[in-house]
Amino acid sequence: MKFSELDLPANILKALKKMGYEEMTPIQEATYPVIFAGQDLCALAETGSGKTAACAIPLIQKVDPALNAIQGLVLVPTRELCMQYMAEIEKIASTTAVIPYAVYGGFDKKIQIAKLKQEEVHILVATPGRLIDLLYDGILSFAQVKCAILDEADELLKVGFLEDIEFIMSCILHEHQTLLFSATMPDDIKKLAHDCLRNPKHISLITERTAPESIEHYFAYSHPKQKHTELIRYLAGEEVDQVLIFCNARHKVDTLFRSIRKDLKDIDYMHAGLIQDKRSSIIRKFRSGKLRYLIASDVAGKGLDFSHVSHVINWDFPRDGEQYTHRTGRTGRMGRKGKAFTFVSKHDLPSFRKLIRSRKITPCWIGKDPLCENNTPQDRRTQKRKSSFRPCPAEGRKKTE
Ligand code: AMP
Repeated sequence: MKFSELDLPANILKALKKMGYEEMTPIQEATYPVIFAGQDLCALAETGSGKTAACAIPLIQKVDPALNAIQGLVLVPTRELCMQYMAEIEKIASTTAVIPYAVYGGFDKKIQIAKLKQEEVHILVATPGRLIDLLYDGILSFAQVKCAILDEADELLKVGFLEDIEFIMSCILHEHQTLLFSATMPDDIKKLAHDCLRNPKHISLITERTAPESIEHYFAYSHPKQKHTELIRYLAGEEVDQVLIFCNARHKVDTLFRSIRKDLKDIDYMHAGLIQDKRSSIIRKFRSGKLRYLIASDVAGKGLDFSHVSHVINWDFPRDGEQYTHRTGRTGRMGRKGKAFTFVSKHDLPSFRKLIRSRKITPCWIGKDPLCENNTPQDRRTQKRKSSFRPCPAEGRKKTE
């Protein structure tokens, strides 16, 4: 369905056209009538589905710009998502008088307070910690909030914000609409939904926890000491647009950056230990294409939308299937093709088996397939001679089933 078939105000349609949004994504089509009608919503949806605009469009429509008060409240788990959400609202609202604003930790609170006190804000996007600070400071009034959105609710709870969220929601004393979006529905999310939503409409746009078909999954069984050389060789044989390289810890990001920067041009790194200004500037540079390679800890994996990532590299094997999906979901977005390349060590094999079973992944080995019993010493010698760090589409690819 096209946006032009909805009864949207001309100024919003104009903004959507400018953004290149013509067709609604499935989540937008499914949720628009519910959100517009004012009903509570509990939606199972993943990042990359277009859920930000799904909320932002009807929310902007509902806001009365003549009323100088916060009318929409959006809670997100990380600062990066906060800025990304804010940027999407800003674009959709660019042709209207609706003013969004984002508050998150790591940014000067005095500036945020001044903005909230002196200027109009109609939609507030926030991370829970900073929002609670501002609530304690008596800066905010939720008396006019019509709609509250809990985005990436499973991630919000994973970082331990359950009490925070319940406290924030308890500060909206009057009847209002609440929308909850989550990629998974564990018991604590069900409880949160039960506590915060009134007679919600349930929508699920995740049929199976399978990996998207737009991503090809490559794996390399490597000794840790070989990883550096193997990664450089793999990337040299690929047509690369932008590459995100994930490590499991901050110090690993630092170490890898120091060792690999001489081999890869236009590279930077990002993790939660960097000050907010630095993180924001790196994200801007990566989005605008000034950086080709970004080494990151999982802060960058949570819901961030980098549309030109052609390759995601798991330098460290992900903790579980969910983390693998979050990381690799940074590529192959909105109909584009993407490649995931994961290093597997001997120690990772049990997790690897679990991953391909649970996510229904057909792995393609670059080099030796450690699960293939027919990997004779002769095969291994041949593989070594071929030094094949290029994926081999026909007979060379080994699929593990
Ligand atoms: P999200 O799931 O909200 O992070 O959105 C993922 C990506 O889809 C973002 O780059 C959006 O700009 C893009 N997007 C959202 N809705 C549409 C649409 N209807 N048409 C084209 N792109 C869209």
